[in-house]
Amino acid sequence: MSIVNAREMLKQATEKGYAVGVFNITNIIQMEAVVEAHEEARAPLIIQTSVTPSKFLGEQVLVAVYRTISASASIPICLHLDHCTDVDYCKKCADFGWTNIMIDASKQPYGENIRQTRDVVNYCHAAGDVSVESELGIVSGVEDQIQVVEDESLLCNPEEALRFVEETGVDFLAPAIGTAHGVYRTKNPRVDFERLGRISVLINGDRVRTPLVVHGGTGLSADYVKRLIAMGGSKFNVSTDLKRTWINAVYEYITAHREEYDPGKLDKHAKNAMKAKVLEWITMLGSAGKAP
Ligand SMILES: [Zn+2]
Repeated sequence: MSIVNAREMLKQATEKGYAVGVFNITNIIQMEAVVEAHEEARAPLIIQTSVTPSKFLGEQVLVAVYRTISASASIPICLHLDHCTDVDYCKKCADFGWTNIMIDASKQPYGENIRQTRDVVNYCHAAGDVSVESELGIVSGVEDQIQVVEDESLLCNPEEALRFVEETGVDFLAPAIGTAHGVYRTKNPRVDFERLGRISVLINGDRVRTPLVVHGGTGLSADYVKRLIAMGGSKFNVSTDLKRTWINAVYEYITAHREEYDPGKLDKHAKNAMKAKVLEWITMLGSAGKAP
């Protein structure tokens, strides 16, 4: 039960009005921290990996650790590959044992995005029970956030979103609504809540077909997160916040213990900091106690 794709957990979240956290890890200790926090909170979990760290750690090593940890966990855990722009690598990771794959062809023309997404969907659904996510519109880096929000054509068009999910059969959609990757420069970034609501009504209004994903979770206030969940967001990708927490904890420890040469103590300090940060997110997303 513990090794799962993201389909059932996101369907439940969409129906019941909370969200599942998708937490980015770059090493094995971080993976353990994220899992332990979710075990404590009895929350469903999606572990997020990017392409570069996956290649650096070694895909087989990463999947072996994921499977080992998940096999003894009491909560459902999905392993997600984030923003992969390479169709072949998406397929390769599905074969390695990732259980959710994000093909990101959002920078391609609409028709090409459909073609690549459909290709990955067909492969992953046939290869095993691997779910697939795709993006429509441009989820920017924070440098471009304002420009993207001001230029409507870069955001996700609701009618196009409906057509996109129907034509591709994709399991989850990340529509660009103005959230950005990285750290927002302002406390109140411009996010098009309304647009997410319109997309949600069109796609999931009568029954949950394609749960919606919010990228760029870092730096969104609890109030923003609550509004995004109310508008239909059920999967929140959190990366920068965790990376900063990890690096700051390591820096803090080394600065305070310059003569300490036991790496285990450093690891433990950083792991605890990451766990505490993840628990904050679980509370914000409302996923505590939602593991079956
Ligand atoms: Zn993203």
